[in-house]
Amino acid sequence: MECINKKANLEICNCTYPCGKKGICCECIRYHRSLKELPACYFPNDAEKTFDRSIAYFLELYQNNRI
Ligand code: SF4
Repeated sequence: MECINKKANLEICNCTYPCGKKGICCECIRYHRSLKELPACYFPNDAEKTFDRSIAYFLELYQNNRI
């Protein structure tokens, strides 16, 4: 089933990792949640490029007022 929001989602997606889930946010968050991670859009662009999607990294950025 094609996601009716995919085109609009892709316009605001900041993920730079080549991935088939891009623009299909429900699959994206399900995948990262299963790994105890957060999707790219929780991270500032420079942090996203590290591909570290861990909650620990998110909290580190948050505590340093990066988010
Ligand atoms: S955040 Fe993760 S699952 Fe989502 S598009 Fe990027 S690499 Fe894929």
